Amino acid sequence: MTTRRVLAVAALVGAAAIATIAQAPQGPQSQGALQQRPGADRTPEFPVPNIREYKPHSTLVVPQHPVPRAKFPVIDIHSHQPAPISEQQFETLVKSMDPLNLQLLVNASGVSGDRLVQSIAALKASKYKDRMVQFATINWGQTITPGFGERAAKQLEADAKAGALGVGEIMKNFGLRVKKSDGSRLKLDDPELDPIWQTAARLNIPIFIHTADPQEFFQPINLANERWLELALYPDRRYPSSQFPTWEELNGERDRLFKRNPKTTFITAHMGWHANDLARLGKMFDEMPNLYTEVGAILYDLGRQPRAAHDFFIKYQDRILFGKDSYQPDEFPYYWRVFETNDEYFDYYRDYHAFWKLYGLGLPDPVLRKLYYQNALKLFPALPRAGFPQ
Ligand SMILES: [Zn+2]
Repeated sequence: MTTRRVLAVAALVGAAAIATIAQAPQGPQSQGALQQRPGADRTPEFPVPNIREYKPHSTLVVPQHPVPRAKFPVIDIHSHQPAPISEQQFETLVKSMDPLNLQLLVNASGVSGDRLVQSIAALKASKYKDRMVQFATINWGQTITPGFGERAAKQLEADAKAGALGVGEIMKNFGLRVKKSDGSRLKLDDPELDPIWQTAARLNIPIFIHTADPQEFFQPINLANERWLELALYPDRRYPSSQFPTWEELNGERDRLFKRNPKTTFITAHMGWHANDLARLGKMFDEMPNLYTEVGAILYDLGRQPRAAHDFFIKYQDRILFGKDSYQPDEFPYYWRVFETNDEYFDYYRDYHAFWKLYGLGLPDPVLRKLYYQNALKLFPALPRAGFPQ
């Protein structure tokens, strides 16, 4: 090819690439890496490593600011702990919380009835009583029979009286697996459940709810799937459309549930699995003033879009609470580093969540305070105040 033809072709390819970007913000623009390039027909002389083996050390030299301890005391509204917890277990737990500046855990392994009474009694009797509170739950039982909603609402009333500050975590089996007595799937927005949501509104008890799972869990498991490794590792995270509702079906039911109960406060766990599409979550916040969210187990999505996520956290600073989900003390510092610093291209801790690196959002102190504890204190006025700046 003459130089002029090469340039003309390059210009065409460039124009096509720009057109693709304009049409589809995600996906196709990255296909450039997959197009035939000079030398693409070469075969590696060494065996090609698998995706778990190839972990090159980064040669990037940039400032590093690890954050072992959060800048402000933190409320983790999404913890999973024994209920009831023994004093020995509690002591071990608190010892692991202190160096992280984790001041208060919400046990979102919710329990109900006698077990709730016992769990709260154990916390209240402890010398660490200001370090954990307990949520209630909804026991779905075998199948949902007519009158279930009324009975569950009555139980919630008793659980609130016993001291539960919230309901949750309502797990993803609600929507994916809970069945009605006629064998059909219990939809999230089934009117049978309205008494529960209305009772929660009247008692001012927020509902902490996990719906569906990352969208890729509902997609074909192939090499274009971002979560291929996780799906290969965990059979119970695969939701083929032959056996499960689609991701959008569940989101639709969820959004109708939230909208139909505007006086009920809902906290959608894991940023509603929209941390990879913050504009969508922002639209939900705009449309639903009763909606809040929590950041558990989606750090990989925030850390790969530090500028967009920073702006989102500024804009919706009153709607986002800190939560971690699985309690692994050595994983919290990754959260602190993403939220607090402007560090670039640093490691994440779980290869099956993400094969990419993280970047810091560099959130300003007033926003960090809201995220770490102020929003939770506002939403749950009965939380212990000890340990938080007044
Ligand atoms: Zn959870």
